[in-house]
Amino acid sequence: MNADLDGEASRWLIVEDSFAAALANTYETLFTTGNGYLGTRGSLEEGHEGALPGTFLRGVFDHHDSAVTDLVKAPDWLTLAIVVNGIRLDVTSASVVHHRRMLDMREGAVFRDTVFEDAEGRRTRFETVHFASSADQHLCCLRARITLENHTAPVIVHSGIDGTGYNLDRRPIYTEPPPDDPHMKWHKWAKSKHLDEVAREQLPDGIYLETRTIDTGITIGYAALTTVSPTAESNVRQRYKYIEQVARAWLTAGDTLTVEKLVSVYTSRDVAAASVRPACLEELRHHTATGFVTCRERNRTAWQAKWADSDVTIDGDPDTTRAVRFNIYQLLIAANECDPRVNIGANGLSGERYRGHAFWDTEVFMLPFFIYTQPETARALLLYRFHTLDGARRNARDGGFRGARYAWESADTGVETTPKWTWDGAHRIWMGEEEIHVTAAVAYGLIAYVAATGDNALMTDYGAEILFETSRFWASRLEAMPDDRYALSRVVGPDEFHEHIDNSAYTNHLVRWHLQQAAHVYADLAVTHPGELASLSERIGLIPDEVEEWLTRAEQIRLPAQNDDGVIEQFDGYFGLETRPVAHDDNDMPMYPPGYHHYNLSGIKLVKQADVVMLTYVLPDEFPDDVKRANYDYYEPLTLHKSSLSTAIHSIMGIEVGDPRRAVQYFRRAAFVDLVDNQGNTQEGIHIASAGGTWQMMVCGFGGFRVRNGQMTFKPWLPPDWNAVDFRLRWHGNAVSVSADHTSATFVLSGPEGCRETIIINGHEITLQANTKVTVDLLRTRS
Ligand code: BGC
Ligand code: BGC
Repeated sequence: MNADLDGEASRWLIVEDSFAAALANTYETLFTTGNGYLGTRGSLEEGHEGALPGTFLRGVFDHHDSAVTDLVKAPDWLTLAIVVNGIRLDVTSASVVHHRRMLDMREGAVFRDTVFEDAEGRRTRFETVHFASSADQHLCCLRARITLENHTAPVIVHSGIDGTGYNLDRRPIYTEPPPDDPHMKWHKWAKSKHLDEVAREQLPDGIYLETRTIDTGITIGYAALTTVSPTAESNVRQRYKYIEQVARAWLTAGDTLTVEKLVSVYTSRDVAAASVRPACLEELRHHTATGFVTCRERNRTAWQAKWADSDVTIDGDPDTTRAVRFNIYQLLIAANECDPRVNIGANGLSGERYRGHAFWDTEVFMLPFFIYTQPETARALLLYRFHTLDGARRNARDGGFRGARYAWESADTGVETTPKWTWDGAHRIWMGEEEIHVTAAVAYGLIAYVAATGDNALMTDYGAEILFETSRFWASRLEAMPDDRYALSRVVGPDEFHEHIDNSAYTNHLVRWHLQQAAHVYADLAVTHPGELASLSERIGLIPDEVEEWLTRAEQIRLPAQNDDGVIEQFDGYFGLETRPVAHDDNDMPMYPPGYHHYNLSGIKLVKQADVVMLTYVLPDEFPDDVKRANYDYYEPLTLHKSSLSTAIHSIMGIEVGDPRRAVQYFRRAAFVDLVDNQGNTQEGIHIASAGGTWQMMVCGFGGFRVRNGQMTFKPWLPPDWNAVDFRLRWHGNAVSVSADHTSATFVLSGPEGCRETIIINGHEITLQANTKVTVDLLRTRS
């Protein structure tokens, strides 16, 4: 591990400099590695007291033993322990004289260098590197080097596959966050069992463990081979749900033992249950034939390609460049472009919080990143909504409505999976019934994707059915009022402090937009794809009158009042609520007023997160500049940002309405949310919506990028201490690189010879020609 920690490379590295028990779980989250198929928390290979290791396989859910369906804690492949002179080297039984770990985002790998010392002063160095391969999704790799620095000793290496883990469920016994004491930390939590063992086996070359999820019956196979050089005597040990290779060597001072562990993973989501074992064995055989070095090379190459499309840099601010890359890294390891039946949970694949469930976070916060950098991944994410349409139909039916309503929390089937009670049983959670705006988020994602990619086939083949069925839901959910208007009562908007509210501005505006978009797509298909439209209409029993009705209801939907300043009332009656003064913490972030918390603010104007401000961001064309400004000025001081989704949106809108000081403060809050753990719960998983929000801040905030009337528009603005920002956007199969500084912006359209694209900068039209640099004077265009 000799990377240059100060130079260019440091902008790619997240570093842990010493072992601190209090931070260990946070680093486990930060050092998550993954490839969209699976994610593995960055736990120490040998574990530690209070460790929370976890490998999660996307799409592998199970309901056994848990309040609602969980993303299953799958067997751990990373486990590797070394015993030197009879002493197991870990932070409890030896002292740590040196410890450094580094996530190298260029290749999605975690490097470790630890020197342990026993009570007799015998020092052993333990260096590792591990990754889940982005080139071969079913492959995980670990290499360790064990060096005896100043002594001679017998060394034993235990390299296992550990299926004994459980999902954790918070128990009422903790009324506070888990204590720092590593001995106490997680053990009082309820444990949910999701895996039964199916088979455990010593192979001619390695080991195999097969488990099966209890309710969903998904077979999970892991095969592993650990090789040790110089060659050592080895055998296999096993117990229920655990199997390991044990190698024994005798090393003298200065000797190094190299251990390479390759692990293959398949489930019956990938192949038939009976083929899981052969698939694992074949995959493992293939990679052990080429070896660790080749596996690492292939992974590196795959990462290079990902970064070529998605890197964002800030000239003049290396720390923030690193933070922005960290957010992008988390997005890249969370999404699986190869599997259209999975989505991204609210914590990616980095932890158990929110149980792997997908929220509106996907379409509104993360999808823009994928649409404009990895459109194939965006397509897969949208297809998940198609594959869960039956679940959404059931949600609508269960509520007594027609059509399809997407789940507030969605797992494998799309059936609503929001828990009904808080972990302590003290509060009913209404989001599953009432936070219905997520259905409009799906339409928002679809429309944005098609506009940016020109992938009309997605709309014709899948999207139209989603838009029509969800519009049906809205049409039946809207209630006719005596004044011929239509209302949506008993909902929760983005601001979750206020439940059972009527006519949420955010929700109603989005529903109106959604119904109009659906009618527009219907009219469009009638001209461009009449045959497809006819067969879809027949299949779902849709008649033109119904579409007319959507438009009528869209026109008649009740939109909350605006006051004389243009401030939109967040929901009916909001303006009549009380106010409370808001104090700020050391970090200048708002705190709950004394005596208040999430569940007793219903009579108070304070807002959990961007809500009306969010509305003016997602539907930019519906509100003039002065209305955006008035709403930002009104709601920003009332917003407590008790969701990490809030700050990014405030940063973007702060730039748009001219509040640069706050915009930069909110930007930093969001970009560093996990790196400095400013929400206090990074140990339970990454705030991945905020990661998507961070990309949007760079591109839509500082780059001022919006799509308007089917065109790319830009309005760059940079904080004074930055020199320039650089990013790249995919657009209709081509790519546009953007580099903006304080006075100029440079664009290059990459694509086939002859392609052109007209873009708008600060309101001025500019035509880009293939592979020709165009520089625009921002000061002149601004005036
Ligand atoms: C979130 C809700 C979520 C609930 C249950 C709350 O913390 O704010 O959006 O539905 O947890 O997972
Ligand atoms: C937020 C929701 C969000 C959820 C998952 C909640 O705290 O209020 O808007 O969807 O977390 O990230």
